[in-house]
Amino acid sequence: MAEFFSVLPPDEARALILSHTRPLNDSEQISTADSLERVTVRDLLAPQALPTFRRSTMDGYALRAIDTHGANEQLAAYLKVVGEVPMGAVVGLSLGSGQAAIVHTGGMIPDEADAVVPVENTQIADAGPSGRMPFEIEVLRTVAAGQNVIQVGEDITAGEVLLHAGSVLRPQDIGALLALGITSIEVVRRPRVSILATGDELVPPHVEPGQGQIRDINSYTLAALCRKAGAIPELKGIAVDDRAELQMRAADALAAGDMLVVSAGSSVSVRDLTVEIIDKLGEPGVLLHGVATRPGKPTILGAVDGKPVLGLPGNPVSAMVQFDMFGIPLIQKLQGLSGRPPSRSITVRLSRNVPSESGREDYVPAVLEEANGELVATPIFGKSNLIFTLVRSDGLIRVPLNRGGLLGGELVELTLF
Ligand code: AMP
Ligand code: MG
Repeated sequence: MAEFFSVLPPDEARALILSHTRPLNDSEQISTADSLERVTVRDLLAPQALPTFRRSTMDGYALRAIDTHGANEQLAAYLKVVGEVPMGAVVGLSLGSGQAAIVHTGGMIPDEADAVVPVENTQIADAGPSGRMPFEIEVLRTVAAGQNVIQVGEDITAGEVLLHAGSVLRPQDIGALLALGITSIEVVRRPRVSILATGDELVPPHVEPGQGQIRDINSYTLAALCRKAGAIPELKGIAVDDRAELQMRAADALAAGDMLVVSAGSSVSVRDLTVEIIDKLGEPGVLLHGVATRPGKPTILGAVDGKPVLGLPGNPVSAMVQFDMFGIPLIQKLQGLSGRPPSRSITVRLSRNVPSESGREDYVPAVLEEANGELVATPIFGKSNLIFTLVRSDGLIRVPLNRGGLLGGELVELTLF
Protein backbone atom coordinates (compact mmCIF):
# COMPACT_ATOMS: atom_id res chain seq x y z
CA MET A 1 0.00 0.00 0.00
CA ALA A 2 1.16 3.49 -0.83
CA GLU A 3 2.32 5.75 1.98
CA PHE A 4 -0.24 8.16 3.29
CA PHE A 5 -0.17 11.48 1.49
CA SER A 6 2.47 10.55 -0.98
CA VAL A 7 0.44 13.17 -2.75
CA LEU A 8 0.40 13.40 -6.58
CA PRO A 9 -0.79 16.29 -8.72
CA PRO A 10 -4.24 15.68 -10.28
CA ASP A 11 -2.99 14.96 -13.82
CA GLU A 12 -0.54 12.31 -12.66
CA ALA A 13 -3.09 10.83 -10.29
CA ARG A 14 -5.64 10.61 -13.09
CA ALA A 15 -3.16 8.95 -15.44
CA LEU A 16 -2.33 6.43 -12.72
CA ILE A 17 -5.88 5.25 -12.10
CA LEU A 18 -6.79 5.34 -15.80
CA SER A 19 -3.86 3.02 -16.50
CA HIS A 20 -5.39 0.47 -14.13
CA THR A 21 -8.86 0.73 -15.68
CA ARG A 22 -9.94 -1.76 -18.33
CA PRO A 23 -12.60 -0.64 -20.84
CA LEU A 24 -15.82 -2.65 -20.80
CA ASN A 25 -15.80 -5.13 -23.63
CA ASP A 26 -19.53 -5.27 -23.75
CA SER A 27 -22.09 -3.84 -26.14
CA GLU A 28 -25.83 -3.75 -26.67
CA GLN A 29 -28.16 -3.10 -29.57
CA ILE A 30 -30.45 -0.13 -28.94
CA SER A 31 -32.86 2.05 -30.86
CA THR A 32 -30.98 4.76 -32.78
CA ALA A 33 -33.62 7.26 -31.70
CA ASP A 34 -32.55 6.67 -28.07
CA SER A 35 -28.81 6.63 -28.65
CA LEU A 36 -27.86 10.19 -27.66
CA GLU A 37 -24.35 10.31 -26.12
CA ARG A 38 -23.85 6.58 -26.40
CA VAL A 39 -20.59 5.28 -27.83
CA THR A 40 -20.39 3.34 -31.11
CA VAL A 41 -18.64 -0.03 -31.10
CA ARG A 42 -17.61 -0.36 -34.77
CA ASP A 43 -17.20 1.73 -37.91
CA LEU A 44 -20.56 2.30 -39.58
CA LEU A 45 -20.75 2.42 -43.38
CA ALA A 46 -23.49 4.14 -45.34
CA PRO A 47 -25.68 1.38 -46.82
CA GLN A 48 -26.75 3.72 -49.63
CA ALA A 49 -26.07 7.17 -51.04
CA LEU A 50 -27.91 10.26 -49.90
CA PRO A 51 -29.79 11.81 -51.46
CA THR A 52 -31.02 8.96 -53.64
CA PHE A 53 -32.44 11.31 -56.26
CA ARG A 54 -31.51 14.80 -57.52
CA ARG A 55 -33.29 17.45 -55.44
CA SER A 56 -33.94 21.14 -55.78
CA THR A 57 -32.60 23.50 -53.11
CA MET A 58 -35.06 26.23 -54.11
CA ASP A 59 -38.62 26.94 -54.97
CA GLY A 60 -38.48 27.70 -58.69
CA TYR A 61 -38.37 26.08 -62.10
CA ALA A 62 -36.37 23.06 -63.16
CA LEU A 63 -34.90 23.64 -66.61
CA ARG A 64 -32.01 23.00 -68.94
CA ALA A 65 -29.33 25.52 -68.05
CA ILE A 66 -28.42 25.96 -71.73
CA ASP A 67 -31.88 27.47 -72.39
CA THR A 68 -31.00 30.42 -70.10
CA HIS A 69 -27.63 31.13 -71.70
CA GLY A 70 -27.03 34.91 -71.91
CA ALA A 71 -30.28 35.80 -70.13
CA ASN A 72 -30.36 38.99 -68.01
CA GLU A 73 -32.74 41.68 -66.78
CA GLN A 74 -32.67 43.41 -70.19
CA LEU A 75 -32.82 40.29 -72.29
CA ALA A 76 -34.89 37.55 -70.69
CA ALA A 77 -34.97 33.94 -71.81
CA TYR A 78 -38.51 32.70 -72.48
CA LEU A 79 -39.44 29.22 -71.30
CA LYS A 80 -42.66 27.29 -71.36
CA VAL A 81 -43.77 25.80 -68.03
CA VAL A 82 -45.37 22.47 -68.85
CA GLY A 83 -46.00 20.93 -65.45
CA GLU A 84 -45.31 20.76 -61.75
CA VAL A 85 -43.15 18.22 -59.92
CA PRO A 86 -45.17 16.86 -57.01
CA MET A 87 -43.43 16.55 -53.62
CA GLY A 88 -42.78 13.01 -52.47
CA ALA A 89 -43.50 11.45 -55.83
CA VAL A 90 -41.77 10.72 -59.10
CA VAL A 91 -41.60 13.46 -61.68
CA GLY A 92 -44.05 12.07 -64.22
CA LEU A 93 -43.16 14.46 -67.00
CA SER A 94 -40.32 14.99 -69.43
CA LEU A 95 -38.99 18.35 -70.52
CA GLY A 96 -38.30 19.27 -74.09
CA SER A 97 -35.99 22.03 -75.21
CA GLY A 98 -37.20 25.44 -73.98
CA GLN A 99 -39.46 23.88 -71.36
CA ALA A 100 -39.47 24.12 -67.56
CA ALA A 101 -41.35 22.58 -64.65
CA ILE A 102 -42.43 24.08 -61.33
CA VAL A 103 -40.34 22.49 -58.57
CA HIS A 104 -40.38 23.00 -54.79
CA THR A 105 -37.49 22.88 -52.33
CA GLY A 106 -36.51 19.23 -51.94
CA GLY A 107 -38.50 18.16 -55.01
CA MET A 108 -37.17 15.73 -57.58
CA ILE A 109 -35.49 17.17 -60.67
CA PRO A 110 -36.82 15.85 -64.03
CA ASP A 111 -34.25 13.73 -65.91
CA GLU A 112 -33.87 16.23 -68.74
CA ALA A 113 -33.29 19.21 -66.43
CA ASP A 114 -29.90 20.09 -64.95
CA ALA A 115 -30.59 23.29 -62.96
CA VAL A 116 -33.21 25.23 -61.07
CA VAL A 117 -33.91 28.93 -61.42
CA PRO A 118 -35.32 30.43 -58.20
CA VAL A 119 -38.78 31.86 -58.62
CA GLU A 120 -37.51 35.33 -57.66
CA ASN A 121 -35.27 35.40 -60.75
CA THR A 122 -38.24 34.95 -63.05
CA GLN A 123 -41.48 36.61 -63.92
CA ILE A 124 -44.57 35.28 -65.57
CA ALA A 125 -44.77 36.47 -69.18
CA ASP A 126 -48.12 34.96 -70.03
CA ALA A 127 -50.19 33.08 -67.47
CA GLY A 128 -52.46 31.69 -70.15
CA PRO A 129 -56.21 31.35 -69.72
CA SER A 130 -56.93 31.33 -65.92
CA GLY A 131 -53.26 30.67 -65.14
CA ARG A 132 -53.34 27.09 -66.40
CA MET A 133 -50.35 25.33 -67.80
CA PRO A 134 -48.61 25.63 -70.10
CA PHE A 135 -47.68 29.25 -69.40
CA GLU A 136 -44.66 31.27 -70.29
CA ILE A 137 -41.99 32.69 -67.94
CA GLU A 138 -39.17 35.13 -68.40
CA VAL A 139 -35.91 33.99 -66.85
CA LEU A 140 -33.94 37.11 -65.89
CA ARG A 141 -30.57 35.51 -65.11
CA THR A 142 -28.31 32.96 -66.68
CA VAL A 143 -28.41 29.72 -64.71
CA ALA A 144 -25.37 27.44 -64.63
CA ALA A 145 -25.66 23.67 -65.01
CA GLY A 146 -26.02 22.10 -61.54
CA GLN A 147 -27.11 25.35 -59.92
CA ASN A 148 -29.57 24.86 -57.04
CA VAL A 149 -29.51 21.10 -57.47
CA ILE A 150 -28.28 18.58 -54.85
CA GLN A 151 -26.71 15.69 -56.74
CA VAL A 152 -27.18 12.01 -55.90
CA GLY A 153 -24.65 11.08 -53.19
CA GLU A 154 -23.72 14.70 -52.50
CA ASP A 155 -24.52 14.24 -48.77
CA ILE A 156 -22.85 10.84 -48.44
CA THR A 157 -21.91 8.09 -50.90
CA ALA A 158 -22.71 4.40 -50.46
CA GLY A 159 -19.99 2.60 -48.50
CA GLU A 160 -18.53 5.76 -47.00
CA VAL A 161 -17.69 5.58 -43.27
CA LEU A 162 -20.37 7.64 -41.62
CA LEU A 163 -19.24 7.14 -38.03
CA HIS A 164 -16.03 5.67 -36.70
CA ALA A 165 -15.92 3.23 -33.79
CA GLY A 166 -15.74 5.11 -30.50
CA SER A 167 -17.89 8.03 -31.64
CA VAL A 168 -20.13 9.70 -29.08
CA LEU A 169 -23.51 10.04 -30.75
CA ARG A 170 -24.77 13.60 -31.18
CA PRO A 171 -28.20 14.80 -32.33
CA GLN A 172 -26.98 15.27 -35.93
CA ASP A 173 -25.51 11.76 -35.96
CA ILE A 174 -28.85 10.30 -34.89
CA GLY A 175 -30.59 12.25 -37.66
CA ALA A 176 -28.10 11.06 -40.26
CA LEU A 177 -28.36 7.39 -39.19
CA LEU A 178 -32.11 7.50 -39.33
CA ALA A 179 -32.01 9.25 -42.73
CA LEU A 180 -30.25 6.11 -43.95
CA GLY A 181 -32.79 3.82 -42.33
CA ILE A 182 -30.38 2.63 -39.60
CA THR A 183 -32.98 2.34 -36.86
CA SER A 184 -30.95 0.32 -34.36
CA ILE A 185 -27.31 0.56 -33.42
CA GLU A 186 -24.70 -1.31 -31.41
CA VAL A 187 -23.25 0.77 -28.58
CA VAL A 188 -21.07 0.21 -25.54
CA ARG A 189 -23.07 -0.90 -22.52
CA ARG A 190 -23.44 1.87 -19.94
CA PRO A 191 -20.97 1.41 -17.06
CA ARG A 192 -22.58 0.58 -13.71
CA VAL A 193 -21.16 2.59 -10.84
CA SER A 194 -21.79 1.29 -7.30
CA ILE A 195 -21.94 4.07 -4.72
CA LEU A 196 -21.49 3.21 -1.05
CA ALA A 197 -21.88 5.93 1.58
CA THR A 198 -20.23 5.47 4.95
CA GLY A 199 -20.57 7.30 8.22
CA ASP A 200 -22.29 6.66 11.56
CA GLU A 201 -23.81 10.14 11.37
CA LEU A 202 -25.69 9.62 8.11
CA VAL A 203 -29.39 8.99 7.60
CA PRO A 204 -31.26 8.66 4.29
CA PRO A 205 -32.96 11.86 3.09
CA HIS A 206 -36.50 10.76 3.96
CA VAL A 207 -35.51 10.31 7.62
CA GLU A 208 -35.60 13.20 10.11
CA PRO A 209 -32.01 13.41 11.44
CA GLY A 210 -31.57 12.95 15.19
CA GLN A 211 -29.06 14.89 17.31
CA GLY A 212 -25.70 14.95 15.57
CA GLN A 213 -27.02 13.22 12.47
CA ILE A 214 -27.14 14.56 8.91
CA ARG A 215 -28.83 13.49 5.73
CA ASP A 216 -26.81 11.68 3.08
CA ILE A 217 -26.04 14.10 0.25
CA ASN A 218 -23.18 12.39 -1.54
CA SER A 219 -25.03 9.29 -2.70
CA TYR A 220 -27.30 11.56 -4.69
CA THR A 221 -24.86 14.15 -6.02
CA LEU A 222 -22.53 11.37 -7.14
CA ALA A 223 -25.38 9.40 -8.71
CA ALA A 224 -26.45 12.48 -10.64
CA LEU A 225 -22.89 13.08 -11.85
CA CYS A 226 -22.74 9.45 -13.00
CA ARG A 227 -25.94 9.83 -14.97
CA LYS A 228 -24.69 12.98 -16.61
CA ALA A 229 -21.55 11.13 -17.68
CA GLY A 230 -23.51 8.27 -19.23
CA ALA A 231 -23.21 5.71 -16.44
CA ILE A 232 -25.86 3.90 -14.40
CA PRO A 233 -25.46 4.65 -10.70
CA GLU A 234 -26.46 1.98 -8.20
CA LEU A 235 -26.93 3.22 -4.66
CA LYS A 236 -25.64 0.70 -2.16
CA GLY A 237 -26.95 2.56 0.87
CA ILE A 238 -25.20 3.73 4.00
CA ALA A 239 -22.71 1.59 5.88
CA VAL A 240 -21.75 2.34 9.47
CA ASP A 241 -18.09 2.85 10.34
CA ASP A 242 -17.48 -0.77 11.20
CA ARG A 243 -14.58 -2.66 9.64
CA ALA A 244 -16.34 -5.95 9.01
CA GLU A 245 -19.56 -4.45 7.70
CA LEU A 246 -17.73 -1.99 5.48
CA GLN A 247 -15.48 -4.67 4.03
CA MET A 248 -18.38 -6.93 3.19
CA ARG A 249 -20.56 -4.22 1.71
CA ALA A 250 -17.69 -2.73 -0.30
CA ALA A 251 -16.88 -6.16 -1.75
CA ASP A 252 -20.53 -6.75 -2.72
CA ALA A 253 -20.80 -3.28 -4.24
CA LEU A 254 -17.64 -3.78 -6.27
CA ALA A 255 -18.80 -7.17 -7.53
CA ALA A 256 -22.15 -5.68 -8.60
CA GLY A 257 -20.66 -2.86 -10.70
CA ASP A 258 -17.93 -1.86 -13.11
CA MET A 259 -16.59 0.77 -10.71
CA LEU A 260 -16.92 1.45 -6.98
CA VAL A 261 -17.17 4.79 -5.22
CA VAL A 262 -16.93 4.87 -1.43
CA SER A 263 -17.96 8.17 0.10
CA ALA A 264 -16.23 9.41 3.28
CA GLY A 265 -13.82 7.94 5.75
CA SER A 266 -11.01 8.58 3.28
CA SER A 267 -8.69 10.53 5.56
CA VAL A 268 -6.20 9.42 8.20
CA SER A 269 -7.95 9.36 11.55
CA VAL A 270 -8.38 6.03 13.32
CA ARG A 271 -12.05 6.25 12.41
CA ASP A 272 -11.23 6.48 8.71
CA LEU A 273 -11.36 2.94 7.42
CA THR A 274 -11.82 3.45 3.70
CA VAL A 275 -8.17 3.16 2.69
CA GLU A 276 -7.77 -0.14 4.51
CA ILE A 277 -11.05 -1.46 3.11
CA ILE A 278 -10.14 -0.59 -0.49
CA ASP A 279 -6.70 -2.10 -0.12
CA LYS A 280 -8.20 -5.42 0.99
CA LEU A 281 -10.67 -5.62 -1.93
CA GLY A 282 -8.10 -7.23 -4.21
CA GLU A 283 -5.13 -6.52 -6.45
CA PRO A 284 -3.59 -4.01 -6.83
CA GLY A 285 -5.82 -2.25 -4.25
CA VAL A 286 -4.83 1.25 -3.21
CA LEU A 287 -2.79 3.07 -5.85
CA LEU A 288 -2.62 6.48 -4.23
CA HIS A 289 -3.76 8.17 -1.05
CA GLY A 290 -3.71 11.93 -1.44
CA VAL A 291 -4.11 14.31 -4.38
CA ALA A 292 -2.57 17.78 -4.44
CA THR A 293 -5.87 19.63 -4.62
CA ARG A 294 -8.14 21.69 -2.49
CA PRO A 295 -10.77 20.66 -1.76
CA GLY A 296 -10.28 16.94 -1.81
CA LYS A 297 -6.74 16.17 -0.70
CA PRO A 298 -7.65 12.95 1.19
CA THR A 299 -8.82 11.14 -1.95
CA ILE A 300 -8.04 7.45 -2.44
CA LEU A 301 -7.48 6.00 -5.89
CA GLY A 302 -7.51 2.27 -6.27
CA ALA A 303 -8.27 -0.55 -8.66
CA VAL A 304 -9.16 -4.21 -8.46
CA ASP A 305 -8.65 -6.36 -11.51
CA GLY A 306 -9.30 -3.55 -14.03
CA LYS A 307 -12.20 -2.02 -12.08
CA PRO A 308 -11.49 1.45 -10.69
CA VAL A 309 -12.26 2.23 -7.04
CA LEU A 310 -12.54 5.75 -5.63
CA GLY A 311 -12.51 6.66 -1.96
CA LEU A 312 -13.82 10.21 -1.79
CA PRO A 313 -13.76 12.69 1.09
CA GLY A 314 -17.15 12.97 2.76
CA ASN A 315 -17.46 16.73 2.49
CA PRO A 316 -20.03 17.20 -0.25
CA VAL A 317 -18.04 19.86 -2.14
CA SER A 318 -14.87 17.75 -2.04
CA ALA A 319 -16.75 14.65 -3.13
CA MET A 320 -18.20 16.42 -6.16
CA VAL A 321 -14.96 18.11 -7.16
CA GLN A 322 -13.04 14.86 -6.87
CA PHE A 323 -15.66 12.86 -8.72
CA ASP A 324 -15.47 15.36 -11.54
CA MET A 325 -11.69 15.03 -11.55
CA PHE A 326 -11.53 11.22 -11.52
CA GLY A 327 -14.98 9.64 -11.77
CA ILE A 328 -15.99 11.26 -15.05
CA PRO A 329 -12.76 10.33 -16.91
CA LEU A 330 -13.07 6.80 -15.53
CA ILE A 331 -16.60 6.46 -16.91
CA GLN A 332 -15.23 7.65 -20.26
CA LYS A 333 -12.43 5.10 -20.19
CA LEU A 334 -14.83 2.29 -19.26
CA GLN A 335 -16.78 3.18 -22.42
CA GLY A 336 -13.61 2.95 -24.48
CA LEU A 337 -13.10 6.72 -24.81
CA SER A 338 -9.84 8.53 -24.24
CA GLY A 339 -10.69 9.40 -20.65
CA ARG A 340 -10.50 13.09 -21.40
CA PRO A 341 -14.05 14.43 -21.43
CA PRO A 342 -14.83 17.49 -23.60
CA SER A 343 -13.76 20.63 -21.79
CA ARG A 344 -16.39 22.70 -20.07
CA SER A 345 -13.85 25.43 -19.36
CA ILE A 346 -14.19 29.05 -20.32
CA THR A 347 -11.92 32.03 -19.78
CA VAL A 348 -13.30 34.70 -17.48
CA ARG A 349 -12.15 37.85 -15.70
CA LEU A 350 -11.60 37.39 -11.97
CA SER A 351 -13.18 40.07 -9.77
CA ARG A 352 -10.89 39.71 -6.74
CA ASN A 353 -7.83 37.91 -5.40
CA VAL A 354 -7.94 34.18 -4.70
CA PRO A 355 -5.27 32.96 -2.29
CA SER A 356 -3.71 29.53 -2.75
CA GLU A 357 -0.48 27.66 -2.22
CA SER A 358 1.99 26.65 -4.89
CA GLY A 359 2.06 22.88 -5.41
CA ARG A 360 -1.67 22.51 -5.02
CA GLU A 361 -4.48 22.80 -7.56
CA ASP A 362 -7.42 24.65 -6.05
CA TYR A 363 -11.04 24.74 -7.16
CA VAL A 364 -13.04 27.69 -5.94
CA PRO A 365 -16.79 28.00 -6.57
CA ALA A 366 -17.68 31.22 -8.37
CA VAL A 367 -20.65 33.17 -9.64
CA LEU A 368 -20.61 34.55 -13.18
CA GLU A 369 -21.90 37.95 -14.19
CA GLU A 370 -21.65 39.95 -17.36
CA ALA A 371 -19.97 43.31 -16.98
CA ASN A 372 -18.59 45.62 -19.68
CA GLY A 373 -19.19 42.99 -22.34
CA GLU A 374 -17.23 40.23 -20.64
CA LEU A 375 -17.87 37.47 -18.12
CA VAL A 376 -16.66 38.23 -14.62
CA ALA A 377 -16.28 35.53 -11.97
CA THR A 378 -16.63 36.29 -8.29
CA PRO A 379 -15.37 33.56 -5.97
CA ILE A 380 -17.60 32.25 -3.21
CA PHE A 381 -15.47 31.25 -0.27
CA GLY A 382 -16.79 28.58 2.04
CA LYS A 383 -15.78 25.38 3.75
CA SER A 384 -16.01 22.26 1.69
CA ASN A 385 -18.90 20.80 3.66
CA LEU A 386 -21.20 23.61 2.54
CA ILE A 387 -23.22 22.23 -0.34
CA PHE A 388 -24.88 25.60 -0.90
CA THR A 389 -21.59 27.17 -1.97
CA LEU A 390 -22.02 24.97 -5.06
CA VAL A 391 -25.74 25.59 -5.36
CA ARG A 392 -25.09 29.33 -5.47
CA SER A 393 -22.26 29.16 -7.98
CA ASP A 394 -22.03 28.65 -11.74
CA GLY A 395 -18.73 26.81 -11.88
CA LEU A 396 -15.30 26.30 -10.38
CA ILE A 397 -12.29 28.54 -10.87
CA ARG A 398 -9.08 26.58 -11.20
CA VAL A 399 -5.94 27.83 -9.52
CA PRO A 400 -3.12 26.00 -11.34
CA LEU A 401 -0.69 23.81 -9.44
CA ASN A 402 2.27 26.18 -9.79
CA ARG A 403 0.45 29.36 -8.78
CA GLY A 404 0.46 30.79 -5.29
CA GLY A 405 -2.90 32.43 -5.95
CA LEU A 406 -4.78 34.45 -8.55
CA LEU A 407 -5.05 38.21 -8.83
CA GLY A 408 -8.22 40.21 -9.17
CA GLY A 409 -8.48 41.44 -12.78
CA GLU A 410 -6.62 38.57 -14.42
CA LEU A 411 -8.12 36.13 -16.91
CA VAL A 412 -8.66 32.71 -15.36
CA GLU A 413 -10.11 29.32 -16.26
CA LEU A 414 -13.56 28.47 -15.00
CA THR A 415 -15.15 25.04 -15.43
CA LEU A 416 -18.92 25.27 -15.80
CA PHE A 417 -21.08 22.80 -13.92
P1 AMP B 1 -15.22 12.16 6.42
O1 AMP B 1 -14.71 12.11 5.01
O2 AMP B 1 -15.78 10.87 6.86
O3 AMP B 1 -14.16 12.71 7.33
O4 AMP B 1 -16.39 13.20 6.42
C1 AMP B 1 -16.16 14.57 6.24
C2 AMP B 1 -17.43 15.34 6.46
O5 AMP B 1 -18.38 15.01 5.44
C3 AMP B 1 -18.11 15.06 7.76
O6 AMP B 1 -18.61 16.27 8.24
C4 AMP B 1 -19.23 14.14 7.39
O7 AMP B 1 -20.31 14.21 8.29
C5 AMP B 1 -19.62 14.63 6.02
N1 AMP B 1 -20.21 13.58 5.22
C6 AMP B 1 -19.76 12.32 5.11
N2 AMP B 1 -20.53 11.61 4.26
C7 AMP B 1 -21.50 12.44 3.83
C8 AMP B 1 -22.60 12.28 2.95
N3 AMP B 1 -22.85 11.12 2.32
N4 AMP B 1 -23.40 13.34 2.73
C9 AMP B 1 -23.13 14.52 3.35
N5 AMP B 1 -22.10 14.74 4.18
C10 AMP B 1 -21.30 13.70 4.42
MG1 MG C 1 -16.61 9.91 8.53
